[in-house]
Amino acid sequence: MIYLDNAATTKPSVSAFDKARVFVTERYFNPSALYNEGFALQSELKKARSALLSPVADESAFELIFTSCGTEADNQAIFSFARRGNVVTTAGEHSAVFAAFAELKNRGAVETRIAPLNKDGSVDVDALCALVDNKTSLVSVMHVNNELGSINDVNDIAKRVKQINPRVIFHVDGVQAYGKLAFRLAKEIDAYSISAHKIGGLKGVGALIKRKSLQIAPYIIGGGQESGKRSGTENVFGIMQFAYAAQEKFLLLRQDYARLKDYRERLWELLDKDVYTRISPENGTPYILTVAAAGLRGEVLLHMANDKGLIIGTGSACSSNAKSRYSKAVIACGYDEKTADGVLRISFSNETTQEEIERAAAILNDIGNDLKRRMQ
Ligand code: PLP
Repeated sequence: MIYLDNAATTKPSVSAFDKARVFVTERYFNPSALYNEGFALQSELKKARSALLSPVADESAFELIFTSCGTEADNQAIFSFARRGNVVTTAGEHSAVFAAFAELKNRGAVETRIAPLNKDGSVDVDALCALVDNKTSLVSVMHVNNELGSINDVNDIAKRVKQINPRVIFHVDGVQAYGKLAFRLAKEIDAYSISAHKIGGLKGVGALIKRKSLQIAPYIIGGGQESGKRSGTENVFGIMQFAYAAQEKFLLLRQDYARLKDYRERLWELLDKDVYTRISPENGTPYILTVAAAGLRGEVLLHMANDKGLIIGTGSACSSNAKSRYSKAVIACGYDEKTADGVLRISFSNETTQEEIERAAAILNDIGNDLKRRMQ
C-alpha cells in the first residue's frame, strides 16, 4: 500500500510513540494529583509545551494551550475573539474555521466578511485588507491551504491588517504548516492553531498558541487545567507523543522540505498532461500536489487508485461529510465545476519515498487513461 493522503492524517511516529509509552505503562497518574508522581507530570507537560512552542514563537510573549484537536483550537480562537462589529476570513478556510464563521453569522452578533482567493489558492490580500475597518474585531487566515497547498504569508498579512486597525485580533489556522514550513510568528500574530496528527502525532491532540496578554473566554470549563483556559484532565500520553514527534519534525524540517519539493515536482513531471492539470502552485507547500482530471470524477479515480493499492484524497479530508461534491477552495479559485469534480489531492510525509512517487505516478496515469477511455 502506498499512502499519499498525509494532509488528511499522518502515520504516528513510532519512535515518538516509544518515548511516550512510559506515560501509559508507568507514569499514568493524573497531573493534577497532589502526590509526587502526579505533580511530577506537570514538569513533563511544561517541557512538552516548550518543545512545541519554542520552534515557532517567542516563549516570553506566547503561551500554548492544549486542546483536543485543531478544530477545537480554531473554534476556541474564533468564538473568543469575534467580539463585536465585523469579522473577516477567507474563502479557502478549512471547515473548522469556515463553519465557525457560518455559526457566527447565524447567531447574528457580528457581521462576517469573506475575502476571495487568487487563482493559486492564496488569499487576495488587497481584497482582504479592503474588508478590514475600524469595526473589525477578528481576522482569521489559514497559513497553508489544506486542499491546494497554497501558502499565505501570514506574518505580512497580519502586519498589513494591523496597519489598518491595530485592535484587530489576528488568528492563523496553522494546522497544515506547523512542523513543515520554516516559520516564526511575527509580533502582529495573536493566535495560531496546530494539530498533532498532521505531523506524526495522534488524532485528538491539538493546541492553540496565543499571545500571553490576550484574554480568552474558555470554551470548556471545569477543573481549571491549562491555567483555567481549557479544563479537562490532560491527555498526557498524546501530548508527550506530540512533543516528541514535533521535535523530530523540526530537526529535519529543511531537509524534508527540500526532498519533498523534488518529489512533488517529480510526480508532476511523470503525470500524463493529457489527463491531469496542475492546481497546486509551485510556490505552495511541498507536502501537497493537487491536480484535476477535468471531465472525470475525482471520487471514482480515488476508488480506482485504492483498488490498486494507492491511497490519495480528493480535497478536504472531511469531504465524505461535505455538503457539496466540489472542493470549496478549488471553486473559490475560479475553476469550473467540471475541473473541481476531477480534483485529486496527493499529499506526502517525511516517510514518502522516491519509489512510491514513481509507482503512484504509474497508477494515476493508468487509472486516468482507463477512465477516460471508458467515458468516451
Ligand atoms: N485546519 C486545517 C487547515 C486542517 O487541514 C485540519 C484538518 O484537516 C483542521 C484545521 C482540523 O484539525 P483536526 O483534524 O485536528 O481537528
